[in-house]
Amino acid sequence: MSIKSTMMDYQLTLPPLIDRLGKFFPEVEVVSRLPDKRLHRTNYLAIQQRSKKLASALTQCGVEKGDAVATLMWNHYAHLEAYLGIPAMGAVIHTLNLRLSAEDVAYIANHAGDKILIVDDILLPLYEQFKDKAPFKKVIVVPLTGQGVDDEFINYESFLDTGSSHFQYPTINENDAAGMCYTSGTTGRPKGVVYSHRSTVLHCMAEAMTDSLAISQHDVVTPVVPMFHANAWGLPYTCVLVGAKQVLPGPHLDAESLMDLYEKEQVTLSAGVPTIWMAIKEAREAEPLRWKTADNLRMVVGGAAVPESLFRAFDAFGMKIIQAWGMTETSPIATVGNLKPSLLDESLDTQYQYRIKQGVPLPFVDIRITDETGQEQPWDGHSQGGTEVRGPWVTGAYYNNEDADKFTEDGWLKTADVSHIDAQGYVKLTDRTKDLVKSGGEWISSIDLENAIMGHPDVLEAAVIAVYHPKWDERPLAAIVVKPGKVVTKADIHLWLDGKFSKIWLPDAVETIDEIPKTSTGKFMKIKLREMYSDWVWT
Ligand code: ADP
Repeated sequence: MSIKSTMMDYQLTLPPLIDRLGKFFPEVEVVSRLPDKRLHRTNYLAIQQRSKKLASALTQCGVEKGDAVATLMWNHYAHLEAYLGIPAMGAVIHTLNLRLSAEDVAYIANHAGDKILIVDDILLPLYEQFKDKAPFKKVIVVPLTGQGVDDEFINYESFLDTGSSHFQYPTINENDAAGMCYTSGTTGRPKGVVYSHRSTVLHCMAEAMTDSLAISQHDVVTPVVPMFHANAWGLPYTCVLVGAKQVLPGPHLDAESLMDLYEKEQVTLSAGVPTIWMAIKEAREAEPLRWKTADNLRMVVGGAAVPESLFRAFDAFGMKIIQAWGMTETSPIATVGNLKPSLLDESLDTQYQYRIKQGVPLPFVDIRITDETGQEQPWDGHSQGGTEVRGPWVTGAYYNNEDADKFTEDGWLKTADVSHIDAQGYVKLTDRTKDLVKSGGEWISSIDLENAIMGHPDVLEAAVIAVYHPKWDERPLAAIVVKPGKVVTKADIHLWLDGKFSKIWLPDAVETIDEIPKTSTGKFMKIKLREMYSDWVWT
């Protein structure tokens, strides 16, 4: 007779986490920066009650299990209420990316079949641009500015008043849909990813682990990464899980506003893409004595590779960068770049060589690299290939089964990232498949080159792309943004890179531009750069 487990089949869903807020962390604060820069303060008890009122009001107005409720919002208390209240009544929170074009937002909202929109009052001008093409039956407006809400819309506060904080959760299965996000479309038409209650709960438990981002109730967390894309890297849910205070920056994402906020609220952990931290580094270096008490911050940096120079600069301020890698499809955190104990005795230089890697997979995230024929590559630190991933918070398909060829026959997600993995399990991304430079049969990593160039003291930003070359097929071109008043030539860059790379890797062209074009999530937009240099002629 085989023994059966005696454990309960307890479903991993969000409602128990919502209830913990009131029971265990009622006084923990949620601070939000409003459009006029004032700070809005509330606590988890109020967030719990208002989330339940939202769930109740949505139920009463006919929203059904599995319906999509869209948000078009910055990071603040009401978005957190939507993160909790919408899935709590069985619907699916669909975060719309407010940095996309009106046309793309309309496409995505229609594709997902969104029934209701919750929108910040300050984002109504964006809504106006696509409302004729939008599918919403109701539009609920959050009055962040304190001004009234037009009669054609529903006022969010009045809507909450129609609901009850004693809302009874419906029965939810852990595999039911909880949230939805579309990829930002840098590698094609946006595609929908649908998170389940289970994937969300497991992702935040893994994210909170000490050897991952080590988030606890002692932390004060500021996701700069937007709540409108990839769940703000899961941080709002993780803070709810552990009872950590949240400090949400609203629409104010410039370096000075963020540093002021970190200092005032004694933030201990923040997260964002490298371009945010580059701006903070500049501000910090320009005024070394300002913001002294924000110096213990841990910063989670991901979404794009992190240059070594950024690690070194922040270490000098006492602010620690932790790199993480992932994507919309992976909820998003898949690997985290902490140093293993065995590396702590290594020289600082060696440690930086590990810290610039994307890190080790979280528990339950399986990773492998394969060549063009699908052959798995060894973990030897140099054999590179396409990165494939699977796990409980990795999507197994796109919404409506689009792009089914992005999944292998044995059920792994084929990412658009090229990497190698070393014997210790550290993943190092060399490029996105589309960004690799193929020169005379040799692959050149645009990421490695641009990261090294960004270490040059007079360079603010650098992006490397492949441009057509009649002899070599492709050669690297570096577009750089230099610090005000400085001039940096190709010869300077070659001198700076000398000894770091073999000669054939050095960019044949170095072009100074005013700004590197950025995507809706603040990453370098290489598609745009490639367009800019599409008719490049070598002289
Ligand atoms: P999109 O794919 O549309 O840019 P995502 O936000 O899902 O939208 O981005 C995921 C991609 O971002 C990854 O596939 C990878 O190319 C890049 N990325 C994420 N984290 C890192 C990192 N730490 N280092 C380098 N690239 C990263």
